[in-house]
Amino acid sequence: MYRTHTCNQLRLADAGKTVTLAGWAATIRDKGGLLWIDLRDRYGITQLVFDENYTAPELFAVARSVGREFVLQASGTVIERAAKTTKIPTGEIEIKVSELKILNKAKTPPFTIQDDTDGGDELRMKYRYLDLRRNAVQQNILFRSKLAIETRKYLSEQGFAEIETPFLIKSTPEGARDFVVPSRMNPGQFYALPQSPQTFKQILMVAGFDRYFQIVKCFRDEDLRADRQPEFTQIDCEMAFVHQEDILNTFEGLTKYLFQSVLGLDLPDFPRMTYDEAMRRFGSDKPDLRFGMEFTDLTAAAQGKGFQVFDSAESVLGICAPGCAEYSRKQIDELTEWVKRPQIGARGLVYVKYDADGSIKSSVDKFYSADDLKTWLDECGAQPGDMLLLLCGETEKTRKQLSELRLEMGARLNLRQPGDFKPLWVLDFPLLEWDEDANRFFAMHHPFTSPKQADIPKMDSDDQATLKSMRADAYDLVLNGVEIGGGSIRIHDRDLQSRNFRLLGFTPEQAEAQFGFLLGAFEYGAPPHGGIAFGFDRLAAVMNGANSIRDFIAFPKNNMGRDMMIDAPSAVDQGQLDELGLKMVE
Ligand code: ASP
Repeated sequence: MYRTHTCNQLRLADAGKTVTLAGWAATIRDKGGLLWIDLRDRYGITQLVFDENYTAPELFAVARSVGREFVLQASGTVIERAAKTTKIPTGEIEIKVSELKILNKAKTPPFTIQDDTDGGDELRMKYRYLDLRRNAVQQNILFRSKLAIETRKYLSEQGFAEIETPFLIKSTPEGARDFVVPSRMNPGQFYALPQSPQTFKQILMVAGFDRYFQIVKCFRDEDLRADRQPEFTQIDCEMAFVHQEDILNTFEGLTKYLFQSVLGLDLPDFPRMTYDEAMRRFGSDKPDLRFGMEFTDLTAAAQGKGFQVFDSAESVLGICAPGCAEYSRKQIDELTEWVKRPQIGARGLVYVKYDADGSIKSSVDKFYSADDLKTWLDECGAQPGDMLLLLCGETEKTRKQLSELRLEMGARLNLRQPGDFKPLWVLDFPLLEWDEDANRFFAMHHPFTSPKQADIPKMDSDDQATLKSMRADAYDLVLNGVEIGGGSIRIHDRDLQSRNFRLLGFTPEQAEAQFGFLLGAFEYGAPPHGGIAFGFDRLAAVMNGANSIRDFIAFPKNNMGRDMMIDAPSAVDQGQLDELGLKMVE
Protein backbone atom coordinates (compact mmCIF):
# COMPACT_ATOMS: atom_id res chain seq x y z
CA MET A 1 0.00 0.00 0.00
CA TYR A 2 1.43 3.36 -1.00
CA ARG A 3 -0.47 5.22 1.66
CA THR A 4 -2.85 4.47 4.49
CA HIS A 5 -4.31 7.97 4.61
CA THR A 6 -4.45 11.16 2.60
CA CYS A 7 -2.82 14.37 3.80
CA ASN A 8 -6.14 15.73 5.04
CA GLN A 9 -7.40 12.79 7.03
CA LEU A 10 -5.60 12.54 10.35
CA ARG A 11 -6.88 14.30 13.46
CA LEU A 12 -6.04 14.33 17.15
CA ALA A 13 -8.21 11.23 17.67
CA ASP A 14 -5.74 9.34 15.45
CA ALA A 15 -2.79 10.02 17.79
CA GLY A 16 -0.75 6.89 18.33
CA LYS A 17 -1.62 5.33 14.97
CA THR A 18 1.06 4.12 12.61
CA VAL A 19 0.43 5.58 9.19
CA THR A 20 1.94 5.99 5.73
CA LEU A 21 1.38 9.13 3.67
CA ALA A 22 2.54 10.13 0.19
CA GLY A 23 2.70 13.51 -1.49
CA TRP A 24 4.85 16.52 -2.36
CA ALA A 25 7.16 18.48 -0.08
CA ALA A 26 5.35 21.83 0.05
CA THR A 27 7.56 23.60 2.57
CA ILE A 28 10.65 22.57 4.50
CA ARG A 29 11.72 24.27 7.70
CA ASP A 30 15.14 23.33 9.01
CA LYS A 31 15.90 24.51 12.54
CA GLY A 32 19.15 22.59 12.96
CA GLY A 33 18.22 19.71 15.22
CA LEU A 34 14.56 19.93 14.21
CA LEU A 35 13.16 19.68 10.72
CA TRP A 36 9.60 19.90 9.47
CA ILE A 37 8.21 19.07 6.06
CA ASP A 38 4.67 20.00 5.04
CA LEU A 39 3.51 17.09 2.92
CA ARG A 40 0.88 18.06 0.35
CA ASP A 41 -1.52 16.05 -1.76
CA ARG A 42 -4.82 16.84 -3.49
CA TYR A 43 -6.65 16.60 -0.18
CA GLY A 44 -4.56 18.78 2.10
CA ILE A 45 -1.39 19.11 4.12
CA THR A 46 0.08 17.09 6.98
CA GLN A 47 3.23 18.06 8.84
CA LEU A 48 6.11 15.59 9.11
CA VAL A 49 8.59 16.07 11.93
CA PHE A 50 12.20 14.92 12.31
CA ASP A 51 14.04 15.48 15.59
CA GLU A 52 17.70 14.73 16.13
CA ASN A 53 16.80 13.58 19.63
CA TYR A 54 14.97 10.55 18.31
CA THR A 55 15.36 10.44 14.52
CA ALA A 56 18.12 8.09 13.37
CA PRO A 57 21.02 10.04 11.79
CA GLU A 58 20.66 8.32 8.39
CA LEU A 59 16.94 9.16 8.29
CA PHE A 60 17.65 12.74 9.36
CA ALA A 61 20.17 13.03 6.54
CA VAL A 62 17.56 11.84 4.02
CA ALA A 63 15.06 14.38 5.37
CA ARG A 64 17.64 17.13 5.08
CA SER A 65 18.27 16.26 1.42
CA VAL A 66 14.62 16.82 0.51
CA GLY A 67 13.92 19.83 -1.70
CA ARG A 68 10.68 21.63 -2.54
CA GLU A 69 8.26 19.52 -4.58
CA PHE A 70 10.15 16.25 -4.02
CA VAL A 71 7.72 13.32 -4.05
CA LEU A 72 7.82 11.53 -0.73
CA GLN A 73 6.45 8.53 1.05
CA ALA A 74 6.62 8.81 4.83
CA SER A 75 5.69 6.31 7.53
CA GLY A 76 5.51 7.04 11.22
CA THR A 77 3.33 7.69 14.24
CA VAL A 78 0.64 10.33 14.60
CA ILE A 79 1.51 12.58 17.56
CA GLU A 80 -0.08 15.62 19.13
CA ARG A 81 1.61 18.85 18.03
CA ALA A 82 3.21 21.12 20.56
CA ALA A 83 2.42 24.24 18.52
CA LYS A 84 -1.07 23.68 17.12
CA THR A 85 -2.60 25.67 14.30
CA THR A 86 -6.20 26.13 13.21
CA LYS A 87 -5.10 27.14 9.72
CA ILE A 88 -5.30 23.59 8.40
CA PRO A 89 -7.64 20.78 9.46
CA THR A 90 -4.69 18.57 10.45
CA GLY A 91 -3.21 21.39 12.54
CA GLU A 92 -3.38 19.54 15.83
CA ILE A 93 -1.17 16.64 14.83
CA GLU A 94 2.07 15.81 13.08
CA ILE A 95 3.80 12.63 11.97
CA LYS A 96 6.88 11.48 13.86
CA VAL A 97 8.55 9.90 10.87
CA SER A 98 10.30 6.54 11.17
CA GLU A 99 10.76 5.88 7.45
CA LEU A 100 11.13 8.30 4.56
CA LYS A 101 11.41 7.37 0.94
CA ILE A 102 12.17 9.85 -1.80
CA LEU A 103 9.91 8.60 -4.62
CA ASN A 104 11.15 11.26 -7.00
CA LYS A 105 13.30 14.35 -6.95
CA ALA A 106 12.19 17.71 -8.30
CA LYS A 107 13.93 20.73 -9.71
CA THR A 108 13.23 23.92 -7.82
CA PRO A 109 9.94 25.12 -9.30
CA PRO A 110 10.03 28.44 -11.21
CA PHE A 111 7.35 29.88 -8.90
CA THR A 112 6.02 29.06 -5.47
CA ILE A 113 3.25 26.49 -5.30
CA GLN A 114 1.05 28.59 -3.00
CA ASP A 115 -2.31 30.31 -3.15
CA ASP A 116 -0.56 33.65 -3.55
CA THR A 117 2.06 32.57 -6.03
CA ASP A 118 4.92 34.76 -7.21
CA GLY A 119 4.52 33.34 -10.73
CA GLY A 120 3.37 35.60 -13.59
CA ASP A 121 0.70 34.46 -16.05
CA GLU A 122 3.01 33.28 -18.82
CA LEU A 123 5.17 31.27 -16.47
CA ARG A 124 2.19 29.67 -14.79
CA MET A 125 0.78 28.66 -18.18
CA LYS A 126 4.07 27.22 -19.38
CA TYR A 127 4.35 25.12 -16.24
CA ARG A 128 0.64 24.49 -15.97
CA TYR A 129 1.23 21.17 -14.15
CA LEU A 130 2.84 23.13 -11.33
CA ASP A 131 0.16 25.79 -11.42
CA LEU A 132 -2.47 23.06 -11.20
CA ARG A 133 -0.71 21.76 -8.11
CA ARG A 134 -1.62 25.00 -6.32
CA ASN A 135 -4.57 24.46 -4.05
CA ALA A 136 -6.60 27.42 -5.35
CA VAL A 137 -6.40 26.26 -8.97
CA GLN A 138 -6.85 22.59 -8.08
CA GLN A 139 -10.05 23.40 -6.16
CA ASN A 140 -11.43 25.18 -9.23
CA ILE A 141 -10.82 22.15 -11.42
CA LEU A 142 -12.32 19.81 -8.83
CA PHE A 143 -15.31 22.15 -8.57
CA ARG A 144 -15.75 21.88 -12.31
CA SER A 145 -15.59 18.10 -12.13
CA LYS A 146 -18.32 18.03 -9.48
CA LEU A 147 -20.43 20.40 -11.58
CA ALA A 148 -20.14 18.07 -14.59
CA ILE A 149 -21.01 14.99 -12.55
CA GLU A 150 -24.05 16.68 -10.96
CA THR A 151 -25.19 17.94 -14.37
CA ARG A 152 -25.13 14.38 -15.70
CA LYS A 153 -26.99 13.13 -12.63
CA TYR A 154 -29.78 15.66 -12.92
CA LEU A 155 -30.25 15.41 -16.66
CA SER A 156 -30.15 11.62 -16.76
CA GLU A 157 -32.74 11.52 -13.96
CA GLN A 158 -34.90 13.77 -16.15
CA GLY A 159 -34.67 11.24 -18.97
CA PHE A 160 -32.02 12.98 -21.09
CA ALA A 161 -29.79 10.74 -23.20
CA GLU A 162 -26.12 11.70 -23.51
CA ILE A 163 -25.22 11.49 -27.19
CA GLU A 164 -21.97 12.50 -28.86
CA THR A 165 -21.92 14.46 -32.09
CA PRO A 166 -18.98 14.74 -34.48
CA PHE A 167 -16.09 17.18 -34.20
CA LEU A 168 -15.19 17.00 -37.88
CA ILE A 169 -18.09 18.72 -39.58
CA LYS A 170 -18.84 21.12 -42.39
CA SER A 171 -17.88 24.77 -42.46
CA THR A 172 -20.70 27.31 -42.63
CA PRO A 173 -20.34 31.06 -42.98
CA GLU A 174 -23.02 31.85 -40.36
CA GLY A 175 -21.96 32.72 -36.85
CA ALA A 176 -18.32 33.09 -35.81
CA ARG A 177 -15.26 32.07 -37.83
CA ASP A 178 -14.68 28.32 -38.09
CA PHE A 179 -11.50 26.44 -37.30
CA VAL A 180 -10.86 24.34 -40.39
CA VAL A 181 -9.09 21.01 -40.71
CA PRO A 182 -7.69 19.85 -44.05
CA SER A 183 -8.77 16.43 -45.26
CA ARG A 184 -5.87 14.27 -46.47
CA MET A 185 -8.13 11.80 -48.19
CA ASN A 186 -10.10 14.53 -49.94
CA PRO A 187 -7.45 16.93 -51.21
CA GLY A 188 -8.54 20.55 -51.33
CA GLN A 189 -11.43 19.90 -48.96
CA PHE A 190 -11.79 20.85 -45.34
CA TYR A 191 -13.71 19.91 -42.27
CA ALA A 192 -14.67 22.54 -39.71
CA LEU A 193 -14.68 22.09 -35.96
CA PRO A 194 -18.18 22.68 -34.58
CA GLN A 195 -19.07 26.07 -33.12
CA SER A 196 -21.83 24.12 -31.40
CA PRO A 197 -23.67 20.87 -32.10
CA GLN A 198 -26.77 22.89 -33.05
CA THR A 199 -27.84 21.17 -36.26
CA PHE A 200 -26.91 17.71 -35.00
CA LYS A 201 -29.01 18.04 -31.88
CA GLN A 202 -31.95 19.14 -33.99
CA ILE A 203 -31.43 16.12 -36.25
CA LEU A 204 -31.45 13.94 -33.11
CA MET A 205 -34.91 15.32 -32.35
CA VAL A 206 -36.03 14.43 -35.87
CA ALA A 207 -34.62 10.97 -35.17
CA GLY A 208 -36.86 10.71 -32.12
CA PHE A 209 -34.44 10.91 -29.18
CA ASP A 210 -36.72 13.42 -27.52
CA ARG A 211 -34.31 14.57 -24.76
CA TYR A 212 -30.62 14.99 -25.55
CA PHE A 213 -27.70 16.46 -23.71
CA GLN A 214 -23.95 16.57 -24.04
CA ILE A 215 -21.15 18.28 -22.15
CA VAL A 216 -19.24 19.20 -25.24
CA LYS A 217 -16.34 21.18 -26.61
CA CYS A 218 -17.16 23.97 -29.06
CA PHE A 219 -14.69 25.89 -31.21
CA ARG A 220 -14.84 29.50 -32.40
CA ASP A 221 -11.99 31.25 -34.14
CA GLU A 222 -12.65 34.71 -32.76
CA ASP A 223 -10.25 37.41 -31.74
CA LEU A 224 -9.82 36.63 -28.11
CA ARG A 225 -11.27 39.01 -25.62
CA ALA A 226 -10.48 38.78 -21.94
CA ASP A 227 -13.00 36.10 -21.13
CA ARG A 228 -13.03 34.07 -24.35
CA GLN A 229 -11.29 30.85 -25.24
CA PRO A 230 -11.03 29.41 -28.78
CA GLU A 231 -12.29 26.11 -27.37
CA PHE A 232 -14.83 26.11 -24.60
CA THR A 233 -17.39 23.76 -23.14
CA GLN A 234 -21.17 23.80 -23.28
CA ILE A 235 -23.88 21.83 -21.53
CA ASP A 236 -25.80 21.40 -24.76
CA CYS A 237 -29.44 20.29 -24.57
CA GLU A 238 -32.44 19.75 -26.81
CA MET A 239 -36.00 18.59 -26.18
CA ALA A 240 -38.88 17.59 -28.48
CA PHE A 241 -42.62 18.11 -27.96
CA VAL A 242 -42.11 21.01 -25.64
CA HIS A 243 -43.16 24.62 -25.30
CA GLN A 244 -40.75 27.34 -24.22
CA GLU A 245 -42.24 27.05 -20.73
CA ASP A 246 -41.16 23.39 -20.44
CA ILE A 247 -37.59 24.30 -21.37
CA LEU A 248 -37.41 27.21 -18.93
CA ASN A 249 -38.72 25.01 -16.11
CA THR A 250 -36.38 22.13 -16.86
CA PHE A 251 -33.27 24.27 -16.95
CA GLU A 252 -34.24 26.49 -14.07
CA GLY A 253 -34.50 23.14 -12.30
CA LEU A 254 -31.01 22.14 -13.44
CA THR A 255 -29.54 25.46 -12.29
CA LYS A 256 -31.22 25.26 -8.88
CA TYR A 257 -30.09 21.65 -8.52
CA LEU A 258 -26.48 22.57 -9.30
CA PHE A 259 -26.47 25.43 -6.79
CA GLN A 260 -27.98 23.13 -4.18
CA SER A 261 -25.81 20.08 -4.78
CA VAL A 262 -22.49 21.83 -5.43
CA LEU A 263 -22.74 25.02 -3.36
CA GLY A 264 -25.45 24.06 -0.85
CA LEU A 265 -27.46 27.15 -1.82
CA ASP A 266 -31.20 27.35 -2.48
CA LEU A 267 -32.07 29.78 -5.25
CA PRO A 268 -35.59 31.26 -5.30
CA ASP A 269 -37.67 31.09 -8.50
CA PHE A 270 -35.99 33.02 -11.29
CA PRO A 271 -37.56 36.33 -12.28
CA ARG A 272 -38.28 36.95 -15.96
CA MET A 273 -37.99 40.02 -18.11
CA THR A 274 -38.45 40.62 -21.81
CA TYR A 275 -35.49 41.81 -23.85
CA ASP A 276 -37.22 45.16 -24.41
CA GLU A 277 -37.76 45.66 -20.71
CA ALA A 278 -34.16 44.73 -19.89
CA MET A 279 -32.88 47.23 -22.43
CA ARG A 280 -35.18 49.95 -21.16
CA ARG A 281 -34.50 49.44 -17.45
CA PHE A 282 -30.82 48.46 -17.57
CA GLY A 283 -29.57 49.13 -21.09
CA SER A 284 -28.39 45.55 -21.33
CA ASP A 285 -29.73 42.15 -22.35
CA LYS A 286 -27.88 40.67 -19.37
CA PRO A 287 -28.55 42.97 -16.45
CA ASP A 288 -26.79 42.39 -13.16
CA LEU A 289 -29.67 42.32 -10.69
CA ARG A 290 -27.52 42.29 -7.59
CA PHE A 291 -28.16 46.01 -7.34
CA GLY A 292 -30.73 48.59 -8.49
CA MET A 293 -29.64 51.83 -10.15
CA GLU A 294 -32.27 51.39 -12.84
CA PHE A 295 -32.43 53.83 -15.71
CA THR A 296 -34.81 56.77 -15.66
CA ASP A 297 -35.76 58.34 -18.97
CA LEU A 298 -35.38 62.08 -18.40
CA THR A 299 -35.71 63.11 -22.05
CA ALA A 300 -39.01 64.92 -21.64
CA ALA A 301 -38.02 66.55 -18.37
CA ALA A 302 -34.64 67.70 -19.65
CA GLN A 303 -35.54 69.10 -23.06
CA GLY A 304 -36.80 72.56 -23.94
CA LYS A 305 -34.77 74.58 -21.47
CA GLY A 306 -32.11 75.77 -23.85
CA PHE A 307 -29.43 73.19 -23.14
CA GLN A 308 -28.51 72.32 -26.70
CA VAL A 309 -26.76 69.03 -25.89
CA PHE A 310 -29.89 67.58 -24.30
CA ASP A 311 -32.30 69.24 -26.71
CA SER A 312 -30.68 67.59 -29.72
CA ALA A 313 -30.40 64.14 -28.11
CA GLU A 314 -32.75 61.28 -28.92
CA SER A 315 -32.57 60.19 -25.26
CA VAL A 316 -31.45 61.65 -21.95
CA LEU A 317 -31.05 58.83 -19.45
CA GLY A 318 -30.04 58.89 -15.81
CA ILE A 319 -29.12 56.64 -12.93
CA CYS A 320 -29.08 57.47 -9.26
CA ALA A 321 -25.83 56.61 -7.50
CA PRO A 322 -26.73 56.18 -3.84
CA GLY A 323 -24.65 58.09 -1.30
CA CYS A 324 -22.44 59.72 -3.94
CA ALA A 325 -23.35 63.39 -3.36
CA GLU A 326 -20.03 63.77 -1.61
CA TYR A 327 -18.05 62.96 -4.71
CA SER A 328 -15.30 65.53 -5.14
CA ARG A 329 -14.64 67.55 -8.28
CA LYS A 330 -11.68 65.27 -8.89
CA GLN A 331 -13.74 62.10 -8.57
CA ILE A 332 -16.34 63.44 -10.99
CA ASP A 333 -13.67 64.52 -13.48
CA GLU A 334 -12.19 61.05 -13.28
CA LEU A 335 -15.60 59.47 -13.86
CA THR A 336 -16.16 61.82 -16.80
CA GLU A 337 -12.85 60.73 -18.32
CA TRP A 338 -13.89 57.13 -17.69
CA VAL A 339 -17.11 57.44 -19.75
CA LYS A 340 -15.25 59.31 -22.48
CA ARG A 341 -12.74 56.51 -23.03
CA PRO A 342 -13.15 55.00 -26.51
CA GLN A 343 -14.35 51.70 -24.96
CA ILE A 344 -17.40 53.53 -23.58
CA GLY A 345 -17.56 56.42 -26.05
CA ALA A 346 -19.80 58.91 -24.22
CA ARG A 347 -19.32 62.56 -25.14
CA GLY A 348 -19.68 63.80 -21.58
CA LEU A 349 -21.29 63.24 -18.22
CA VAL A 350 -23.82 65.43 -16.45
CA TYR A 351 -24.27 65.16 -12.70
CA VAL A 352 -26.80 66.41 -10.21
CA LYS A 353 -25.73 66.24 -6.57
CA TYR A 354 -28.45 66.10 -3.95
CA ASP A 355 -26.57 67.10 -0.84
CA ALA A 356 -27.49 65.73 2.55
CA ASP A 357 -28.74 69.21 3.58
CA GLY A 358 -31.14 69.23 0.63
CA SER A 359 -29.19 71.63 -1.58
CA ILE A 360 -28.78 70.74 -5.24
CA LYS A 361 -25.67 71.23 -7.35
CA SER A 362 -25.23 70.32 -10.97
CA SER A 363 -22.89 70.69 -13.88
CA VAL A 364 -25.81 72.14 -15.85
CA ASP A 365 -27.32 74.57 -13.33
CA LYS A 366 -26.78 77.37 -15.83
CA PHE A 367 -29.67 75.92 -17.83
CA TYR A 368 -31.89 74.44 -15.17
CA SER A 369 -33.51 75.90 -12.07
CA ALA A 370 -33.37 74.09 -8.74
CA ASP A 371 -37.00 73.13 -9.32
CA ASP A 372 -36.14 71.58 -12.70
CA LEU A 373 -33.34 69.58 -11.13
CA LYS A 374 -35.55 68.56 -8.22
CA THR A 375 -37.99 67.08 -10.75
CA TRP A 376 -35.20 64.92 -12.16
CA LEU A 377 -34.15 63.84 -8.69
CA ASP A 378 -37.72 62.88 -7.86
CA GLU A 379 -38.20 60.99 -11.11
CA CYS A 380 -35.07 59.00 -10.30
CA GLY A 381 -36.17 58.40 -6.71
CA ALA A 382 -33.06 60.14 -5.35
CA GLN A 383 -32.65 60.75 -1.62
CA PRO A 384 -30.53 63.48 -0.01
CA GLY A 385 -26.95 62.25 -0.22
CA ASP A 386 -27.39 60.72 -3.70
CA MET A 387 -26.07 61.84 -7.07
CA LEU A 388 -27.64 61.52 -10.50
CA LEU A 389 -25.46 60.67 -13.47
CA LEU A 390 -26.85 61.48 -16.90
CA LEU A 391 -25.81 60.53 -20.40
CA CYS A 392 -27.47 61.50 -23.63
CA GLY A 393 -27.41 60.79 -27.34
CA GLU A 394 -28.84 58.17 -29.64
CA THR A 395 -31.01 55.84 -27.56
CA GLU A 396 -29.30 52.52 -28.26
CA LYS A 397 -25.80 53.90 -27.78
CA THR A 398 -26.71 55.88 -24.69
CA ARG A 399 -28.26 52.81 -23.11
CA LYS A 400 -25.11 50.82 -23.71
CA GLN A 401 -22.90 53.55 -22.29
CA LEU A 402 -25.06 54.07 -19.24
CA SER A 403 -25.15 50.32 -18.68
CA GLU A 404 -21.35 50.31 -18.50
CA LEU A 405 -21.42 53.24 -16.10
CA ARG A 406 -24.05 51.51 -13.97
CA LEU A 407 -21.87 48.39 -13.70
CA GLU A 408 -18.83 50.50 -12.89
CA MET A 409 -20.68 52.39 -10.15
CA GLY A 410 -22.06 49.09 -8.82
CA ALA A 411 -18.50 47.80 -8.56
CA ARG A 412 -17.15 51.01 -7.02
CA LEU A 413 -19.92 50.98 -4.43
CA ASN A 414 -19.34 47.28 -3.67
CA LEU A 415 -22.84 46.37 -4.72
CA ARG A 416 -21.72 43.39 -6.81
CA GLN A 417 -20.91 40.88 -4.11
CA PRO A 418 -19.53 37.55 -5.37
CA GLY A 419 -21.52 35.37 -2.96
CA ASP A 420 -24.82 36.99 -3.94
CA PHE A 421 -26.57 35.20 -6.83
CA LYS A 422 -29.27 36.86 -8.89
CA PRO A 423 -30.45 34.76 -11.84
CA LEU A 424 -32.80 36.10 -14.49
CA TRP A 425 -34.52 34.78 -17.61
CA VAL A 426 -34.47 37.28 -20.47
CA LEU A 427 -37.20 36.41 -22.99
CA ASP A 428 -38.46 37.46 -26.42
CA PHE A 429 -35.20 38.44 -28.05
CA PRO A 430 -35.40 40.08 -31.48
CA LEU A 431 -35.25 37.55 -34.32
CA LEU A 432 -32.89 39.65 -36.44
CA GLU A 433 -30.04 42.02 -35.99
CA TRP A 434 -29.02 44.55 -38.64
CA ASP A 435 -25.32 44.61 -39.52
CA GLU A 436 -24.26 48.00 -40.88
CA ASP A 437 -20.99 46.73 -42.38
CA ALA A 438 -22.46 43.69 -44.12
CA ASN A 439 -25.61 45.67 -44.98
CA ARG A 440 -27.84 42.70 -44.14
CA PHE A 441 -29.70 41.04 -41.32
CA PHE A 442 -28.10 38.35 -39.20
CA ALA A 443 -29.96 36.01 -36.88
CA MET A 444 -29.66 37.37 -33.36
CA HIS A 445 -29.49 33.85 -31.90
CA HIS A 446 -29.02 31.55 -34.89
CA PRO A 447 -30.87 30.89 -38.17
CA PHE A 448 -32.83 27.95 -36.72
CA THR A 449 -34.62 30.04 -34.10
CA SER A 450 -38.36 30.34 -34.48
CA PRO A 451 -40.03 33.72 -34.82
CA LYS A 452 -42.92 34.25 -32.45
CA GLN A 453 -46.08 32.87 -34.01
CA ALA A 454 -47.70 36.31 -34.11
CA ASP A 455 -44.71 37.81 -35.94
CA ILE A 456 -44.49 35.24 -38.75
CA PRO A 457 -46.57 37.39 -41.17
CA LYS A 458 -43.96 40.18 -40.79
CA MET A 459 -41.40 37.93 -42.46
CA ASP A 460 -42.72 38.94 -45.86
CA SER A 461 -42.23 42.64 -45.22
CA ASP A 462 -39.59 44.70 -47.05
CA ASP A 463 -39.56 47.31 -44.35
CA GLN A 464 -36.44 47.24 -42.20
CA ALA A 465 -38.19 48.58 -39.11
CA THR A 466 -40.90 45.94 -39.38
CA LEU A 467 -38.33 43.18 -39.72
CA LYS A 468 -36.34 44.61 -36.81
CA SER A 469 -39.44 44.53 -34.63
CA MET A 470 -39.90 40.77 -35.06
CA ARG A 471 -39.54 38.81 -31.86
CA ALA A 472 -38.27 35.25 -31.48
CA ASP A 473 -38.99 32.45 -29.05
CA ALA A 474 -35.45 32.92 -27.79
CA TYR A 475 -34.27 33.21 -24.20
CA ASP A 476 -31.11 33.70 -22.19
CA LEU A 477 -30.35 32.69 -18.64
CA VAL A 478 -28.43 35.49 -16.97
CA LEU A 479 -26.61 35.26 -13.66
CA ASN A 480 -25.09 38.33 -12.02
CA GLY A 481 -24.79 40.13 -15.33
CA VAL A 482 -23.28 37.18 -17.18
CA GLU A 483 -25.09 35.22 -19.89
CA ILE A 484 -24.68 31.64 -18.71
CA GLY A 485 -27.15 30.03 -21.09
CA GLY A 486 -29.09 30.74 -24.24
CA GLY A 487 -31.51 28.89 -26.46
CA SER A 488 -34.69 28.96 -28.44
CA ILE A 489 -37.68 27.14 -29.80
CA ARG A 490 -36.61 26.01 -33.29
CA ILE A 491 -38.23 26.17 -36.62
CA HIS A 492 -39.35 22.63 -37.54
CA ASP A 493 -41.18 23.44 -40.72
CA ARG A 494 -39.21 23.32 -43.93
CA ASP A 495 -40.97 26.23 -45.58
CA LEU A 496 -40.61 28.50 -42.59
CA GLN A 497 -36.92 27.61 -42.38
CA SER A 498 -36.49 28.46 -46.06
CA ARG A 499 -38.23 31.81 -45.53
CA ASN A 500 -35.93 32.53 -42.63
CA PHE A 501 -32.85 31.74 -44.72
CA ARG A 502 -34.15 34.09 -47.38
CA LEU A 503 -34.48 36.89 -44.81
CA LEU A 504 -30.85 36.27 -43.87
CA GLY A 505 -29.80 36.78 -47.46
CA PHE A 506 -29.33 33.16 -48.55
CA THR A 507 -30.37 32.25 -52.06
CA PRO A 508 -32.31 28.95 -52.16
CA GLU A 509 -29.20 27.36 -53.70
CA GLN A 510 -26.94 28.60 -50.91
CA ALA A 511 -29.40 27.43 -48.27
CA GLU A 512 -29.56 24.04 -49.95
CA ALA A 513 -25.78 23.74 -50.25
CA GLN A 514 -25.14 24.62 -46.65
CA PHE A 515 -28.12 23.28 -44.75
CA GLY A 516 -29.72 20.89 -47.23
CA PHE A 517 -29.36 18.02 -44.76
CA LEU A 518 -31.44 19.88 -42.18
CA LEU A 519 -34.05 21.05 -44.68
CA GLY A 520 -34.17 17.48 -45.95
CA ALA A 521 -34.66 16.12 -42.43
CA PHE A 522 -37.53 18.55 -41.91
CA GLU A 523 -39.35 16.81 -44.77
CA TYR A 524 -39.39 13.50 -42.93
CA GLY A 525 -41.44 14.30 -39.84
CA ALA A 526 -39.64 16.80 -37.66
CA PRO A 527 -41.28 17.21 -34.26
CA PRO A 528 -41.65 20.62 -32.59
CA HIS A 529 -38.49 21.10 -30.56
CA GLY A 530 -36.27 23.54 -28.75
CA GLY A 531 -33.26 23.68 -26.50
CA ILE A 532 -30.59 25.58 -24.72
CA ALA A 533 -26.85 25.55 -24.16
CA PHE A 534 -25.07 26.62 -21.01
CA GLY A 535 -21.54 28.01 -21.10
CA PHE A 536 -20.03 25.46 -18.77
CA ASP A 537 -16.72 27.22 -18.09
CA ARG A 538 -18.57 30.44 -17.39
CA LEU A 539 -21.11 28.80 -15.14
CA ALA A 540 -18.26 27.36 -13.07
CA ALA A 541 -16.57 30.78 -12.86
CA VAL A 542 -19.72 32.73 -11.97
CA MET A 543 -20.74 30.20 -9.31
CA ASN A 544 -17.35 30.90 -7.73
CA GLY A 545 -17.68 34.67 -8.05
CA ALA A 546 -14.66 34.59 -10.38
CA ASN A 547 -14.22 36.81 -13.40
CA SER A 548 -12.01 34.60 -15.51
CA ILE A 549 -13.05 31.31 -17.10
CA ARG A 550 -9.38 30.48 -17.57
CA ASP A 551 -9.00 29.45 -13.96
CA PHE A 552 -11.69 26.83 -14.46
CA ILE A 553 -10.11 25.20 -17.51
CA ALA A 554 -7.31 22.74 -16.84
CA PHE A 555 -5.36 23.66 -19.96
CA PRO A 556 -6.46 27.07 -21.24
CA LYS A 557 -5.01 29.09 -24.09
CA ASN A 558 -3.54 32.55 -23.65
CA ASN A 559 -4.80 35.76 -25.26
CA MET A 560 -3.08 34.86 -28.52
CA GLY A 561 -4.82 31.49 -28.61
CA ARG A 562 -1.59 29.72 -27.67
CA ASP A 563 -1.14 26.75 -25.42
CA MET A 564 2.07 27.82 -23.71
CA MET A 565 2.77 24.41 -22.22
CA ILE A 566 2.78 22.32 -25.38
CA ASP A 567 3.63 25.33 -27.57
CA ALA A 568 0.71 25.15 -29.98
CA PRO A 569 -0.05 26.17 -32.62
CA SER A 570 3.23 25.33 -34.32
CA ALA A 571 4.60 24.76 -37.81
CA VAL A 572 4.31 21.32 -39.40
CA ASP A 573 6.91 19.82 -41.67
CA GLN A 574 6.79 19.93 -45.45
CA GLY A 575 6.02 16.23 -45.70
CA GLN A 576 2.87 16.64 -43.67
CA LEU A 577 1.82 19.59 -45.83
CA ASP A 578 2.49 17.64 -49.02
CA GLU A 579 0.28 14.83 -47.80
CA LEU A 580 -2.48 17.35 -47.25
CA GLY A 581 -1.90 18.99 -50.60
CA LEU A 582 -1.18 22.31 -48.86
CA LYS A 583 1.47 24.86 -49.76
CA MET A 584 3.32 26.94 -47.22
CA VAL A 585 2.85 30.66 -47.77
CA GLU A 586 6.18 32.43 -47.47
N1 ASP B 1 -26.35 26.29 -30.09
C1 ASP B 1 -26.71 27.50 -29.39
C2 ASP B 1 -25.43 28.25 -29.00
O1 ASP B 1 -24.34 27.71 -29.07
C3 ASP B 1 -27.51 27.25 -28.17
C4 ASP B 1 -28.88 26.73 -28.46
O2 ASP B 1 -29.64 27.39 -29.15
O3 ASP B 1 -29.23 25.66 -27.96
O4 ASP B 1 -25.51 29.39 -28.58
